[in-house]
Amino acid sequence: MKTYDWIVIGAGITGAALAYELMKVGFSVLLLEQDAALHNATRYSYGGLAFWSATTPLMRQLCDEGIARHRILSTELDADTEFRELDLLLTIATDTDPEVAAAFYANFAIPPKLLSVDEALEMEPLLNKQAIAGALTVKHGHINPEKTAQAYIQAFLRAGGEMEITQVQTFTSNHASQTIKTTTKTYHSANIVVCAGGLSRQLLKASGISIKLYFTHAEMIQTPPVEVRLRTLVMPANLQRFQLEAESTKIDELWNEPGHELLAPILDAGAIQFQDGSIRLGQISRVLTDPYIDIDRKTSEGWLRRSIGAILPALSNLPGTWHHCLVAFSGDRAACPKDSRLPIIGSIPGCHGVYLFSGFSNPLVLVPPLAQRFANYLTGKEDEIISQLSPVHFQSSM
Ligand SMILES: Cc1cc2nc3c(=O)[nH]c(=O)nc-3n(C[C@H](O)[C@H](O)[C@H](O)COP(=O)(O)OP(=O)(O)OC[C@H]3O[C@@H](n4cnc5c(N)ncnc54)[C@H](O)[C@@H]3O)c2cc1C
Repeated sequence: MKTYDWIVIGAGITGAALAYELMKVGFSVLLLEQDAALHNATRYSYGGLAFWSATTPLMRQLCDEGIARHRILSTELDADTEFRELDLLLTIATDTDPEVAAAFYANFAIPPKLLSVDEALEMEPLLNKQAIAGALTVKHGHINPEKTAQAYIQAFLRAGGEMEITQVQTFTSNHASQTIKTTTKTYHSANIVVCAGGLSRQLLKASGISIKLYFTHAEMIQTPPVEVRLRTLVMPANLQRFQLEAESTKIDELWNEPGHELLAPILDAGAIQFQDGSIRLGQISRVLTDPYIDIDRKTSEGWLRRSIGAILPALSNLPGTWHHCLVAFSGDRAACPKDSRLPIIGSIPGCHGVYLFSGFSNPLVLVPPLAQRFANYLTGKEDEIISQLSPVHFQSSM
């Protein structure tokens, strides 16, 4: 019976980066992923790196470390993550005062610059002039998130890491070792770390652990490579998703009962073109407590196309396929509710050897530095940032 130092559950960007960093510091690691063909949040993400968006010294430090890490990641992993910098355009709706929209971002590390309608159109000619009162712009980072996760996994495997495609059903924890039961096999390790994205809450619950970790159902359309050229990453200045997340977690117990729709769905109309010419159009977010619920794709696709068409008319009728995935986010922290957008990283109290690395609100920029810090911390090095993200601040009553 082989016993690993670490079993990492989930091979999205969180699990892929952490598995690689754990190997790098000398642990033996097994990465378990349920799907051979991924259809996770990493796969359908826009790939944006909001390194400019920090509003606290902690986030500023992590964003600086994140963008620095992305600049060298292709070289370190020996595979192209398609990292680049591009212009982000945050559209301001016609019923919003542009100065008020700009004021919201005034205390961000790099506040976006306010543009008139004509300046916004000069930057992004595909915008519908009638639909906006102006826009904000800032330099944004961009990667291909799927390629970045794959680059981490390939580097992990080259370093001697192991990976299996199998679904984890439960795990049991005792002081000496962890037993992980999957649909095909039982595995043993000294420690496990849950990186199962939007399914982390269910997996922890099945193993008797309650954590304030939630998920939205996200929907988007992916086009094949197309002729039309979108120059910028377009998103609304007023992102409704964060408000939806905050509102939906007021009563944690409701998340243990499948069948609730806690709030009406929202749509933040956005678009990004990848380097191969394909475009991602999004995004609907729903707070449905059943992670496996069926969503009416036809109605959703119509809503997405109409909403994108209002802002970027040339994109509304492009060929494309509707996709759905779950996106994890963290809840209020008992210790400091103001910092509720922090991820949850560390050992789960009362469950020796069980760790969590999930709930990121700005994951693509934060995961690389935090995976590196967390792996070093697990070798016994002090890290005052990792200590602040401990699950102890997010635990529900059991
Ligand atoms: C349309 C859209 C746009 C986005 N844009 C951005 C953006 O611009 N910038 C940004 O930073 N973020 C963005 N995000 C969010 C970001 O993509 C995700 O939060 C992030 O990729 C999540 O990574 P993850 O590893 O936590 O989860 P996932 O990528 O969902 O990976 C979790 C993995 O765990 C596996 N798993 C689950 N349960 C089990 C089990 N029991 N056994 C084995 N494996 C299991 C799943 O199959 C999955 O592969 C966007 C998301 C969407 C949907």
